Amino acid sequence: MFQFDNSYARLPDRFFASVYPEPVEGPKLLKFNGSLAQELGVEADFSDPGRLAAILAGNVVPPGAMPIAMAYAGHQFGNFVPQLGDGRAILLGEVVDRNGKRRDIQLKGAGPTPYSRRGDGRAALGPVLREYIVSEAMNALGVPATRALAAVATGEQVYRETVEQGAVFVRVAASHVRIGTFQFLAARGDNEGIKLLADYVIERHYPELKIAENPYLALLQGVAARQADLIARWLGIGFIHGVMNTDNMTISGETIDFGPCAFLDEYDPMKVFSSIDQGGRYAYRNQPGIGQWNIARLAECLLPLLDADEEKAVEAANAVLKAFGERFQKEWIGVFRAKIGLATEADGDGDLIQALLAAMHEGQADFTLAFRRLADAAEGGQEAFLDCFADPDKAQAWLADWRERLTTEARPFGELAAALRAVNPAVIPRNHKVQEALSAANYGDFSFFERLLEALEKPFEERPEFVGYMQPPKPEERVTQTFCGT
Ligand code: AMP
Ligand code: MG
Repeated sequence: MFQFDNSYARLPDRFFASVYPEPVEGPKLLKFNGSLAQELGVEADFSDPGRLAAILAGNVVPPGAMPIAMAYAGHQFGNFVPQLGDGRAILLGEVVDRNGKRRDIQLKGAGPTPYSRRGDGRAALGPVLREYIVSEAMNALGVPATRALAAVATGEQVYRETVEQGAVFVRVAASHVRIGTFQFLAARGDNEGIKLLADYVIERHYPELKIAENPYLALLQGVAARQADLIARWLGIGFIHGVMNTDNMTISGETIDFGPCAFLDEYDPMKVFSSIDQGGRYAYRNQPGIGQWNIARLAECLLPLLDADEEKAVEAANAVLKAFGERFQKEWIGVFRAKIGLATEADGDGDLIQALLAAMHEGQADFTLAFRRLADAAEGGQEAFLDCFADPDKAQAWLADWRERLTTEARPFGELAAALRAVNPAVIPRNHKVQEALSAANYGDFSFFERLLEALEKPFEERPEFVGYMQPPKPEERVTQTFCGT
């Protein structure tokens, strides 16, 4: 089924533990991503659904697989934990996709590993479906993220705060190497390992840097740039990751781990959903600062490779951190310029964007809908836009400033509206819709899950059959808190 070629398993033994998935009682395929399978060159045999489910649940290890649990460390909410690792995920192997890109095939919830600590190695149905929905939605929204190949029920129960149904999530990633993977080696003083891992990720994710004067410095710069760009795009869609620990930040620049993530309803820069994020460390607005903090942790690991002279190494690392901030600012303003339909750059654009955000905050405007309705305002229908605000006066005044700025571009209205609709989604995985899909699935009804996935396939289109997915939650539907659910 998979044409495996397992490069990570060829790295030294101390990078991982070889471990087989623990078979489950009653594997049943819940969802399979046919188009992703095609992209991966994965051939699924639907004539034998029992075997397909058995493979995807980990009961049958397909030929060529070399199952391993990856070792990593990480800062969790700022506290360093020298050993985390795949406690409930098993990397089956890697495939090279149709575009020549190497991708990991990982089973999440496949049973205990040497890194499970006190965990059961399993995943519950709700979090598995949440990751399926959100990671696929991110992809459709054009934001780099890991992908969902399948969700499989295990036929077993898992014990969390309540008894839940077990499931396995089949995750596809450019790779699962994280900042925490470097930290694992650094914590052990394993400089040779750090160099091997750096060479590995350069080859896999940044091959163009091999010829750089200092490939390791270039790697740090490259990871910083991709993370800065990624976080700017998160902010553009109102995404709050919720648990930006260093073990949840990839070297490839893909969004990973969708445990307590959520999307803004009304705009509030300090918004936090995750029940475990008491101090608001990972609030919407804090994400770029945390991204930079995480890059600093990666820089610490790479210091010995940056320069033989420690002082010079620190200097080079500091320059990367500064560049992260600048790169983020530039990307952020680029994202938001596009969100208000500006095709050119002018002084004062930052203020214009901030003024809109301030009006949205004060007017409790729904983040997604207000931006979407700007396209209508561009075409002369400003009512729908103003309706997003509790008090439309500020928004009305902002529209006047916006129109004045737009006159400097003299873009035809139709073109402007189309540009706005191409970047401001109509449909996102709204928290209450995700919740609705998960609740129904827990009772065996997967129709909400299926329909939500369908709605999210074309997020930039307003399709009449999916208008319900464009609406903000009613007061009684609002989700105020999310849970890790591990
Ligand atoms: P996460 O919050 O999913 O990023 O996981 C943080 C760490 O806890 C990782 O090392 C996971 O492998 C581990 N972990 C989370 N849930 C479980 C579980 N049910 N069993 C074993 N390990 C787990
Ligand atoms: Mg994680």
